Amino acid sequence: MKLLTYRDNGYEMLGVASQDGKTVYSLSDIGLSFFNMNDLIRRFSGEDRNTVEAFLRNPEEGVPYDTLDKCSPIPYPAQDVICLGENFMAHKKEAGGYSDEAFGTEKKVSIYFSKRVGEAVPDGGGIPAHRDITERLDYEAELAVIIGKEAYRVPAEEAYEHVFGYTILNDISARDIQTGHKQWYLGKSLDGFTPIGPWIVTADEIPGRPKIRVQSYVNGELRQDGNTDDFIFDIAHCIHELSQGIRLLPGTIISMGTPAGVGMGFKPPRFLSVSDAVDCVIEGIGTLHNVIVD
Ligand code: MG
Repeated sequence: MKLLTYRDNGYEMLGVASQDGKTVYSLSDIGLSFFNMNDLIRRFSGEDRNTVEAFLRNPEEGVPYDTLDKCSPIPYPAQDVICLGENFMAHKKEAGGYSDEAFGTEKKVSIYFSKRVGEAVPDGGGIPAHRDITERLDYEAELAVIIGKEAYRVPAEEAYEHVFGYTILNDISARDIQTGHKQWYLGKSLDGFTPIGPWIVTADEIPGRPKIRVQSYVNGELRQDGNTDDFIFDIAHCIHELSQGIRLLPGTIISMGTPAGVGMGFKPPRFLSVSDAVDCVIEGIGTLHNVIVD
């Protein structure tokens, strides 16, 4: 099922979308009550799931998705997003071609960094260009994993039992700030740099190790076209590795890295400008659409 957050008269609401994503039903109208998506992720029971599934088999009138005052499914992540760097071989090469000093070293271990998210930008929301501090704004379409059950010292073979679901994350990056500092945190964490959405698809719809297409388009032109089957370090590896020393709490977001075709990978680079539209598309999840704004 597709779980999402939206606003109704200024109040944050939780909803479930129809299978085609076109119609949204309020969870409270179905009789389910949670404070917000993080609360839902912590407390969503098998019985709750059955209630929603039964409703979706015979739904009552809903609201068109397009007319919603949309929020990101987790508008205020409880902690920084954990991100994978250079997790596709072709992207690792293009990044090394852009800046050998920043990206070119031969690393045989997974690269983790974090990304601060004051408020995640929803599907349809604007990405601020921050033109006063960056001239090299870039996009990165990524599959994001949402942890459902607390994970601590989890064997890789049990990792997927801890996944609540999946969503799309655009890891917006200011390349000049990212490469101008020793760490990537600042260049990845400016306000509005983390569009997440349009919804969370629960893990039962993408069972096991995801083998799904990840694409991005800028103004309708295909830029990235990868598949999660090509992760250098897969989801099970990362949950296992991270959880050896970090307790991954429900609601934790792990963004799995981006395929080749980002702006810095072109010669000359093709960075984003105000009014550019970026669509991140992931098979089985949907499309996250955003426009760069001043
Ligand atoms: Mg990234």
